[in-house]
Amino acid sequence: MDLSFGPEYEAYRAEVREFTAEWSAHAPLSHERAAEFRDRATERGYLYRGIPKRYGGSEREFDAFREAIVAEEFDASGLPWRLGAQGVGMIVPTLLEIGEEWQREKFIPGTLRGDYVWCQGYSEPGAGSDLASLRSSARLEGDEWVINGHKIWTSDAQDSNYMFGMFRTEPDAPKHAGISYLLLEVDQPGLEIRPLRQIDGAVHFNEVFFDDVRTPADWIVGKRGQGWQVARVNLKYERNLGGGSMMRRHFNGLLELARRSEIDGRPAIQDPVTRRRLAELEGYVRCVETTYMRQLSATANGEEQKVSLPILMNKLYGTDTREKIARLGYDLVGSDGLRAPAEEDLKIQSNTETVTGWVDQYLFSLAGPIAAGSSNIQRNIIGERGLGLPRDLRSPS
Ligand SMILES: Cc1cc2nc3c(=O)[nH]c(=O)nc-3n(C[C@H](O)[C@H](O)[C@H](O)COP(=O)(O)OP(=O)(O)OC[C@H]3O[C@@H](n4cnc5c(N)ncnc54)[C@H](O)[C@@H]3O)c2cc1C
Repeated sequence: MDLSFGPEYEAYRAEVREFTAEWSAHAPLSHERAAEFRDRATERGYLYRGIPKRYGGSEREFDAFREAIVAEEFDASGLPWRLGAQGVGMIVPTLLEIGEEWQREKFIPGTLRGDYVWCQGYSEPGAGSDLASLRSSARLEGDEWVINGHKIWTSDAQDSNYMFGMFRTEPDAPKHAGISYLLLEVDQPGLEIRPLRQIDGAVHFNEVFFDDVRTPADWIVGKRGQGWQVARVNLKYERNLGGGSMMRRHFNGLLELARRSEIDGRPAIQDPVTRRRLAELEGYVRCVETTYMRQLSATANGEEQKVSLPILMNKLYGTDTREKIARLGYDLVGSDGLRAPAEEDLKIQSNTETVTGWVDQYLFSLAGPIAAGSSNIQRNIIGERGLGLPRDLRSPS
């Protein structure tokens, strides 16, 4: 099967690769140079194609393949083009789809520049998979919402200046109908962030406590009580983060590790058990790549209905495959992996050249099947929406 994009697109890929090579020569980039790199990439139409120029985008004709090529090449270069997943990846497309014009003008340009960093306030101690059970509340007092409650697993809250989140504004309404989708400033009195240290030793997410926290009445996305519908738009973008080429890169890193590690005095890649595990993984990686291609073709052809299932399937199989790759890497580094990592190593994820990098990848890969909706929930949705199976039992609304 020929999975290349054809001569016109491969010429485009060569052009993008030349651009990344020029910038990679100066890596690592300082904060200012990284911003300049993204500006130049936007001027050339590589970044933010679907975003109008008036909000800081490059406003190019829709082309799913060009977007995919840029993502693949930019990821491969390791250059700092992906700003926080919650900002550019989630709230920007959500505001473009359903935000008010003033909200787009106020929030999108700063987010694209990297000045506004966002976190996502959804999960609570009693509301994860069953998110609509959330209890953190907001009541309207004059021209402000007053927020009280407790969020958990809030990624990057410690580095964020804004949060988008769901809060109960209509306590007497059925649970899905009583939620509103609010934006708020993180740095303000009454909002306390408590870091949670993870199994890999790093701190990426937090608990957030709200004690009479305030946000303007019009910092609401969608209508009052319709936050659930807004969150569904937002989650559509969250589950779509990442692609097939990334999985191939992780797998290639594993192959290199298998070539340079030893089992019983010979390269691990010659060990029959390791070879069998690698061959099995190659199959999984191909599944992820092919499913990604289906998603890409459906997106390119504007077949909305056909886009969502490959995304759901790749969230499920992608996170599972990532865990399997990392697990084999973890096994190959052997007892060296038991050494405690240096504090500075904890900040660098996905480094496939060091022992710490593989241990870290494995420990972090355990989070993939939970974050952005657990694998069991994905299976339910695929069964119900994809295969038309009877609905799973739901808690009462
Ligand atoms: C790395 C990471 C980053 C995260 N970042 C954020 C963030 O920035 N903001 C945020 O709001 N949240 C964030 N989360 C939270 C994440 O969305 C939740 O952990 C996830 O939705 C699962 O909820 P829970 O942890 O409460 O587990 P639970 O919902 O309690 O689930 C526990 C187990 O029960 C299973 N289960 C639950 N219901 C069903 C069902 N109906 N059928 C079958 N099985 C079921 C689940 O699959 C799971 O195995 C993050 C999580 C992780 C791991």
